[in-house]
Formats: sequence, structure tokens, C-alpha cells
Amino acid sequence: MKVCTHCGESFEPKFPTAKLCYSCWLLREAMLEEYPELEREVRTLRLALERKAPPAIPPDILKILIGCCHPDKHGNSKSSNTATRWLLEQRTSATQFKETSPW
Ligand SMILES: [Zn+2]
Repeated sequence: MKVCTHCGESFEPKFPTAKLCYSCWLLREAMLEEYPELEREVRTLRLALERKAPPAIPPDILKILIGCCHPDKHGNSKSSNTATRWLLEQRTSATQFKETSPW
């Protein structure tokens, strides 16, 4: 007799190396069979969630922020150019999201 490493029940092993009772072994086999399919499903759902995620900055706020940090209002400083460029990229990303979203 051995003790199943999963459920703790005693069982009569069919093989000297068996660590799982027959019920737990069957369960493990079923899970291993489903694993690749579940992995694909998780990957698909993650991609769908990423595409469905709303833009980090709402479009109306983004427009205000671009106006506030525009280089014309800050002596064409390097910081204002960097910030404006990044904000404009967010606007582009949000537009692309709407165009590619299946929902
Ligand atoms: Zn077991």
C-alpha cells in the first residue's frame, strides 16, 4: 500500500513508481489532455482583453493635456516636445484600438 501524493488516500499501486491513486491519476491525465487547449483559450482571451481595454487617458482629457503642454506654449522646450509627442502617440493608439477592435 502507498499513500497518494495528491489526495492522501491509501492505494494499491499497479507500478512500484506510482505516486498517485488511480482516481488522481485519471484526473491528472484528463487535465494534461486539456492543458494545450486551455492555454490557447487563455492566450486568446488575453489578446481580446488587451484589444478591448479602454485607452489609459480618455480622449477629451487627452486633448486638454496636449493643449496644456504643447511646445508653442512652453518655448519649444525639449520637455514639452517629448510630452506632446507621447500624448499624440496615445491618441494614435486609441484611434487604432477603435479601428481594430472586433467589438
Ligand atoms: Zn489520490
